[in-house]
Amino acid sequence: MHNPVKYVEKAVTVAATGAWAVFERLNRIKPNPSPKPKWSDKPLLKSYEKSKPPLGWPRTTDSLCPRCVPEIRQQILDGELPHEILLNEKVGEIKAQIVERDGKILMVKDCPKHGHFEDVMSIDPEFSRHLEDVFPGRDILAHNDEKLHHHGSSTVKYGRGSVLTIDLTNRCNMMCDPCFMDANQVGFVHELTWDDIKTMLDNAITIKPRRQMSVQFSGGEPTLSPYFLDAVRYARKVGYNSVQAATNGIEFAKSPEFCKQAAEAGLRYAYLQFDGIGNAANAHRKVGNMFDVKVRAIQNLHADVGAYFQSGAQGPAARIRYQLLNQRSHGLDLSTGVRFKTVGFHPDEGEVEFLLAAGRRFGALEVVVNGVFGLETGGENGKDVEAKGFVGWRLTQAIRAGVDARLQAEVGDEEAALPPVGTPPTPAVRDYDLTVGPTASWMVTPTIQLQALVGLAQPKKTNLTTGVGVVYASIDF
Ligand code: SF4
Repeated sequence: MHNPVKYVEKAVTVAATGAWAVFERLNRIKPNPSPKPKWSDKPLLKSYEKSKPPLGWPRTTDSLCPRCVPEIRQQILDGELPHEILLNEKVGEIKAQIVERDGKILMVKDCPKHGHFEDVMSIDPEFSRHLEDVFPGRDILAHNDEKLHHHGSSTVKYGRGSVLTIDLTNRCNMMCDPCFMDANQVGFVHELTWDDIKTMLDNAITIKPRRQMSVQFSGGEPTLSPYFLDAVRYARKVGYNSVQAATNGIEFAKSPEFCKQAAEAGLRYAYLQFDGIGNAANAHRKVGNMFDVKVRAIQNLHADVGAYFQSGAQGPAARIRYQLLNQRSHGLDLSTGVRFKTVGFHPDEGEVEFLLAAGRRFGALEVVVNGVFGLETGGENGKDVEAKGFVGWRLTQAIRAGVDARLQAEVGDEEAALPPVGTPPTPAVRDYDLTVGPTASWMVTPTIQLQALVGLAQPKKTNLTTGVGVVYASIDF
């Protein structure tokens, strides 16, 4: 017997479906006009205005002969047929049947010239049925698209522009088998000129409706195009907000400077393909260290802005940091940022701190210096400065040990009121905090770090020198 809660879920689903059908009918009695968003020249469609193609099976559909298409393509390349034939005639098109057989959905077709073909479309008819059931209907008709959607019977007719893919070149610095583009394997180079690239970007940006327009430069390897950086820059200039490169990562791995140039030109994403984890899983691409190359590309490209959350002795802190320089390109890691720190988990007794941090590795030896200026956001509105230094040895990629020292002092405090006449003078106390001692840290994961310090402390507002043990946990996110 099924779990009783399943019957309840089913009943609620049936009731909700019925209620929605009634609501939708009532809604059609005197409907408000559909809104016309600024990215479209035509109003959006109500759900009942959306059309659907024939769905379900068995059914007849339009298809292509897998042998006619390459033959015609070759004739066009050989100059025996004009390419306009693809626009004006239904070359290679044949009818096909979609049927269910032996627990699979098949496409079955017969070409008068090349014979019978069968392709498996799905091995899960139930899931395919579900996908068709939830299809909401065709979107708004594409308009203002004459310069873009002009591909004969394969022209896109519905929907709002989303991702434009531009193949900058069919050259590649690899020769994978398989390659989705047959890069380097077709015996000729096809590479877009600067005018071609500009025309495509200019035409596509005029399409309506245009909900969101991303452009992905692909290939071959798009970074080999002499116009790659110019294309990225121009795409951002004319209004594409998400500019991507589908890349094997080699050029990004070779040069942090190239990464920087791409970022400055406006590249937002590098789209890398992995066939698995580790070099062995990627070895069929015939570059022995392909996985390492991609990891290096990610390291070179990694974002400059980071945020982190730390829980330590003074309660939680959150930080936003911007990397100004990095060691790979400038010989020094230099970053700046802002940190908000609460005191004892009281958000109204916190401190905003401005950080400047510099670090340098000499092989396994690591030297880090931090300077912090803090403003209290509650209580006494105090100001303080902090200097922090670490010199340590990286024992493994995840574990380092060394000596850590931190000195914090208050600055700009209101002058303390003089004690009433006759009151004995208060003994002088220290107005800085000093902690120093051996420390070890462990990167549990690339984003979670644990640090422990055992040493000496001279706490503020005391004359004590005492032993101290501190454990920090921080999460970068
Ligand atoms: S890296 Fe990509 S484009 Fe280049 S050969 Fe391999 S699959 Fe083809």
